[in-house]
Amino acid sequence: MQVKKLNEIDVRGKKVFIRADLNVPQDDAGNITEDTRIRASIPSIQYCLDNGAAVMITSHLGRPTEGTVGPDDTLAPVAVRMGQLLHRPVRLIADWVDGGFEVKPGEVVLLENCRCNVGEKKNNEALARKMAALCDIYVNDAFGTAHRAEATTHGIARFAPAACAGMLMGAEIDALSKALHDPKRPLVAIVGGSKVSSKLTILKSLADKVDQLIVGGGIANTFLLASGKRIGESLAEPELVKEAQAIIDMMKARGAEVPLPVDVVVADEVSALARANRISVDEVGPHDRILDVGPKTAAKLSEIIANAGTVVWNGPVGVFELPQFAGGTKMMASAIAHSEAFSIAGGGDTLAAIAKFHIAEDVGYISTGGGAFLEFLEGKTLPAIAALEERFTA
Ligand code: ADP
Ligand code: MG
Repeated sequence: MQVKKLNEIDVRGKKVFIRADLNVPQDDAGNITEDTRIRASIPSIQYCLDNGAAVMITSHLGRPTEGTVGPDDTLAPVAVRMGQLLHRPVRLIADWVDGGFEVKPGEVVLLENCRCNVGEKKNNEALARKMAALCDIYVNDAFGTAHRAEATTHGIARFAPAACAGMLMGAEIDALSKALHDPKRPLVAIVGGSKVSSKLTILKSLADKVDQLIVGGGIANTFLLASGKRIGESLAEPELVKEAQAIIDMMKARGAEVPLPVDVVVADEVSALARANRISVDEVGPHDRILDVGPKTAAKLSEIIANAGTVVWNGPVGVFELPQFAGGTKMMASAIAHSEAFSIAGGGDTLAAIAKFHIAEDVGYISTGGGAFLEFLEGKTLPAIAALEERFTA
């Protein structure tokens, strides 16, 4: 995978257009409640400013209707926060597609929510050409939207005079490629979360590569069914038992394995008041719901993680939001934090678990992309990265 990187390009005196992912969560009053994405966008912007470029940045925010900028759609709060982080004012430009605004070298402006522009989502060529005409260099730093071909993530990369990956995008591509194409073995993947159906493709594609495939959460329940266990009223997808069995067989044929839980934490309801019981996986009753792995299983998984060369993690192994069912995910998070293995993690709820158990510092690489992270690991070509590859010249 060859893409030009921002730090390989001379940006002095150039007009640089950065597509960032500044889609931050906000409260009802519009206040930003979590600014990780804005912080993550700073290195590319700072690099451009330090090297004398005139910088324009845009991003989507929420799911606006194209053609209007509603009160919830504006990047105004993001401009304020970004100004604080950059220690300089960040002007917000409305109606920017046709130009008519000025940016000086060493100056930075934010271009209003790009998903408010008509044609953005459909990757309209006329729109992409207009945006490309605003700049000398197009920089894509929005890994989180790399799996979507839109005018600011794909079309513009084809028409801008030059196109490259930003610092964050470059780091994502490097870390994920390393784990996928040249991993230190054993390569261990942990796929947890609620449903097999939402992760079937990734399970199959990982089954072809990894030495151990740890399944957890609701996903493990379907695998337990496949191996003939009773799971009571646990969340599972009986219609996917065959698929689960095929994955187990695929791994076996390669001399690899899918370790299944030997003990579990059950309750009769998913609630903060639920009484949790630790039992052997063979003791699950007809009204039990499996909501976490048990301590023996967690210890076994921790050992696998401790001996791994590379760990890829997506999805909690239990309902970690409730303290009674957080033990397995917590123990696994701690094992990842203490392992010598190069670890990468991604996924919305996975990131929440990492924050909850305070292990962010100890994970090798935390991906900012949810859907994009999974699609990359599935081996799919992400359109935004493909567009940059097409512009690669040594
Ligand atoms: P991610 O966002 O990291 O990809 P998912 O969205 O696939 O993860 O899954 C996360 C959700 O799975 C969490 O809300 C968690 O409560 C739920 N979950 C985990 N284990 C179980 C289980 N045994 N039964 C039901 N839900 C579970
Ligand atoms: Mg999720």
